Amino acid sequence: MSDVLVIGGGLAGAVAALAAAGAGATVTVVRRARGATAMGSGALEFLDASPGALERLAADEFHPYGRVSGGDAAWLRGRLEEAAGFLGRVLGAQGLPLDGSLAAAGHFITAEGAPARAHFVARAAAAGERTRLRGRVAVVDFTGLARWPARQVAEAAEGQVVTVATPGLENFTGLAARFDAGLDWPPRVPEGFDLYLFPPVLGLERPLETPFPSAEVLAVPPSPPGWRLQRALDRALEAAGVAIVAGEASSPEIEGDRLASIRISGDRFPARAFVLAGGRFVGGGLVSGRAPADSLLGLAAEGGRGTWGLPTDASMRPLRGGEPAFANVFAAGALLGGAAGRSGSGVAALTGLAAGRNAAR
Ligand SMILES: Cc1cc2nc3c(=O)[nH]c(=O)nc-3n(C[C@H](O)[C@H](O)[C@H](O)COP(=O)(O)OP(=O)(O)OC[C@H]3O[C@@H](n4cnc5c(N)ncnc54)[C@H](O)[C@@H]3O)c2cc1C
Repeated sequence: MSDVLVIGGGLAGAVAALAAAGAGATVTVVRRARGATAMGSGALEFLDASPGALERLAADEFHPYGRVSGGDAAWLRGRLEEAAGFLGRVLGAQGLPLDGSLAAAGHFITAEGAPARAHFVARAAAAGERTRLRGRVAVVDFTGLARWPARQVAEAAEGQVVTVATPGLENFTGLAARFDAGLDWPPRVPEGFDLYLFPPVLGLERPLETPFPSAEVLAVPPSPPGWRLQRALDRALEAAGVAIVAGEASSPEIEGDRLASIRISGDRFPARAFVLAGGRFVGGGLVSGRAPADSLLGLAAEGGRGTWGLPTDASMRPLRGGEPAFANVFAAGALLGGAAGRSGSGVAALTGLAAGRNAAR
């Protein structure tokens, strides 16, 4: 029997599992598929970049930041810094270092034209921040790559398109491409540029490195940066000794005010404590019936279009009728809802850390 059983293996579940394992607990993660985490753009959104966002979200009682901080913006800032530091260390140790800070959002060149604002990105994308663009910028186009608007990106970056031939590789796009498998690396790019901007398709496990200054441009999901994030989390879980079980958690067995066990593929898995981190509708943590509810325990979600999620107390225990529904169940991540304001990764990291630590107590 594990001390802690985490349902969901996306960003929130992984952080919760790593936090619980770090506190000395034996931990099992169950997940049935990749969720929203594997679909990210490479921008890890902790806060939207509008002025006063942190204070506004701390004061928002329907946002997880507001629920856990009780309106205390200084407390929230401290916990977000801590969560960003935790995530940065975890990902850095797995070859996916982060770049950025909560103090100021960067404006990143994207494949869509308009810049994306984000506080944290993978380091491979960092030099694509607009104020860091210096000198002559080349936007690399590969002859075999489909749907990469190199010209549009060059306009946004005030750069110049340079084309690299990819004989034998045709009509490749993002994730499905396995572009790295057949590409000569490093590519032979024309000399004379200070920065080379690449499409975000270079390397599925880790971003490929170049012997010249370069950055990957952010793009709409799904793209390899999300997949890399998920893979780095998976490696971190393995390194921490967390057991990962593939399957669907169902049929909760309840004893008094405690969840005693769940079923996965016909077997019962008991645990001392549980973390619900099943994501929202994409991950499958919430189901929409007459009223949205969590898919395992049937706890009612609160909110509205775009913000549905489980309410919790400050220790991350989901509520029923305003009281913790179970003594030993915690919740984290997109399942908590309210995350429409471009804070998905921050919510997952902050609440995952808190839920994992509390479950391990
Ligand atoms: C399409 C899309 C793109 C996004 N892009 C970004 C982005 O670029 N940057 C950003 O910061 N945020 C982004 N977000 C927000 C994103 O939801 C959060 O950032 C965060 O990754 C959510 O993590 P999570 O762990 O809560 O959920 P998920 O990553 O969805 O993980 C949920 C996990 O729970 C599992 N699960 C669910 N129910 C069960 C069950 N009963 N049994 C077993 N397993 C179960 C799923 O299989 C999955 O593994 C995006 C969201 C979506 C929908």
